[in-house]
Amino acid sequence: MVTRKQKKRVTALYKEGKSDLEIATQLGLPKKDVFDIRRKNDSLTKEEKEQIRKTRRNIIIGGIAIASVIGTRIVNYFLNKQSRFQTNSNTQYSLTLEQVRFGKVSLESYLDERFRLMPDVQAAVKSGMLKGFLYKVPKPQLELILTQMFEHIIPNKEDIKLEVRTGLEAYYKPWLKEEFAKIVPGSLHLFGKKVPLYVGFGDSIIYSSVLTTDADITGAIKHELEHIKDWYGGINVGGIYLSFDTTSPKTFGLEFLGNLLELRAHYKELEEAYKELTTTNKMSVSDKYFGDRAIGYLKHWNYIKNNVTTDLERRVSASQLNDLKGIFPSKIGKDIYLSFNLFGEKEEIRVRPLK
Ligand SMILES: [Zn+2]
Repeated sequence: MVTRKQKKRVTALYKEGKSDLEIATQLGLPKKDVFDIRRKNDSLTKEEKEQIRKTRRNIIIGGIAIASVIGTRIVNYFLNKQSRFQTNSNTQYSLTLEQVRFGKVSLESYLDERFRLMPDVQAAVKSGMLKGFLYKVPKPQLELILTQMFEHIIPNKEDIKLEVRTGLEAYYKPWLKEEFAKIVPGSLHLFGKKVPLYVGFGDSIIYSSVLTTDADITGAIKHELEHIKDWYGGINVGGIYLSFDTTSPKTFGLEFLGNLLELRAHYKELEEAYKELTTTNKMSVSDKYFGDRAIGYLKHWNYIKNNVTTDLERRVSASQLNDLKGIFPSKIGKDIYLSFNLFGEKEEIRVRPLK
């Protein structure tokens, strides 16, 4: 805990022209605390503020996009129990992706029905973490929404404006080809702050080569809900709590965080697909979707396994991979193998890219 006296000393020493490191050494404080005190006192330089803004934008691009860009997209998978597969009809909802693609139903109506009827979505709303779905929101409206959100947690008006501007830029910038949805706002400031968030959708969800069935869309929405859960409450891994307040670029890299979020969301999707398989003997999601998720899962798994640079990352990596060992990915040649050990069943699913 930093005392008021220490805070005053930090401000005074900074005014004398001392660096954060010098101040930290002199007062026996972590350098991060010195920086945080300056941030709260609004004594950051323009460059530092711009740096924070850029970092936040990075996480919006790198961390929250539903699918990372992967070279091989067309995949086919084979299961050792092929006969278990049956097609599934979609009875829960009245509107279909096909209707949207043929222009018979608007994407807005389609998403609205999902919002109202999808149990996981409604559970997220009830728990307070999800505020709503956003689709083509007019700028003044989103500006108001974001301002009200940040007013709760940021005291300084200039900082609020900065966050709102960053949030608007992230929402209105052209969406990547396979970017279907993103959490709004994806500001690092809100990581673990229990501020209700939105899921924003783009038109790319209709034209995606990965999401081809209604079940795929359901999966994609569940992916976003995982991000919402992590972003809203922070992440608990093996007794370690990760949030804006417990991490810094020095202790926990943004790219590492982005991969961690994606790994967890991909796990959720694969787990859901497998749960359906074990309980109903069918899998409603498309092969392409399943394969794409498997490729993504392996990629993020390997990143978390092999790109540890700090002590905190090392501990999180070990705990997280252990927690997720119920779906163990590996690659042999071009094939990806997912070894499931979940819901009392064990089996391996092979994902084979088609060229
Ligand atoms: Zn994602």
